[in-house]
Amino acid sequence: LIQLSVPLNFIGFIYREIRQGLTDIEQMFDLLDVPQEIVDKPGVKPLVVGSGKVEFCDVQFSYDPNRKILKGISFEVPAGKTVAIVGPSGAGKSTISRLLFRFYDIQGGKILIDGQDIRDVTQESLRAAIGMVPQDTVLFNDTIAYNIRYGRVDAGEEDVRKAAELAQIGPFIERLPDGYRSMVGERGLKLSGGEKQRVAIARTILKAPPILMLDEATSALDSHTEQEIQAALDLVSKGRTTIVIAHRLSTVIAADEIIVLQDGQIAERGTHAALMRKAGLYASMWDRQREATEAEERLRIARERD
Ligand code: ADP
Ligand code: MG
Repeated sequence: LIQLSVPLNFIGFIYREIRQGLTDIEQMFDLLDVPQEIVDKPGVKPLVVGSGKVEFCDVQFSYDPNRKILKGISFEVPAGKTVAIVGPSGAGKSTISRLLFRFYDIQGGKILIDGQDIRDVTQESLRAAIGMVPQDTVLFNDTIAYNIRYGRVDAGEEDVRKAAELAQIGPFIERLPDGYRSMVGERGLKLSGGEKQRVAIARTILKAPPILMLDEATSALDSHTEQEIQAALDLVSKGRTTIVIAHRLSTVIAADEIIVLQDGQIAERGTHAALMRKAGLYASMWDRQREATEAEERLRIARERD
């Protein structure tokens, strides 16, 4: 009975894990934070992806009935464009990414992809259309190649290699003693946050989905790693409908629209230039980030002097 309520594709996913006998299932559930009550409506059809337009229409959502997390969020990501979501921690940014993936159902409003309500299509087709690079990537206890190929299981070795290179992780993998056969995850090689994220990017490049949902890493990456990751993300989002949740504001300057989320509501929206002119929340976030960067720089110079 419990199994019947789990989405079929998720059973497939868990099944592969059990068969591998390697991943701690309970932990996977915790990390993915997947509620088990979402089921396809009877007789629903697969999502038909055209140009890949994404719309949030007055979306209301709470995890617990007594605490509203999203209080009427509306925005549109035209096909092939990039919308950035910024805002303080706890504002509801990652929640938006979970809702687009339909890990939870909303309590009010609509989420549409090319005009289709995501509740009216199969979850399998929905998730096949979206490439998700989460804030904290969990790797399977398997080889690096397996982890990348997960994006498209029939991909050949050359494609896996190419995706890794585009994600700026190719040379790193080649330097490992076992190369692409190196075991990673809990029981294998421990990769840094930035390395894991690049594996997730490689996986997404291989998947080549029409819609991208990127939740950038918050962990302090050195600026070189950050630039490499940024280059990889720019590449994969080119020409694709992209929602990027940005912690580093430097990555949102070129976005077609920036949404500033605060306490589950849109506090400001516009292009970088317009928001800077406005001298509001977004502009003050920039000031704070600039100060932090300058302080970091001073510290680095002082350390080098010693
Ligand atoms: P952000 O990504 O902007 O930092 P999140 O979307 O992760 O914020 O979280 C928004 C709010 O929802 C936070 O207050 C967080 O504590 C709460 N929250 C997140 N996940 C859950 C959950 N599974 N159950 C209950 N509350 C949650
Ligand atoms: Mg978050």
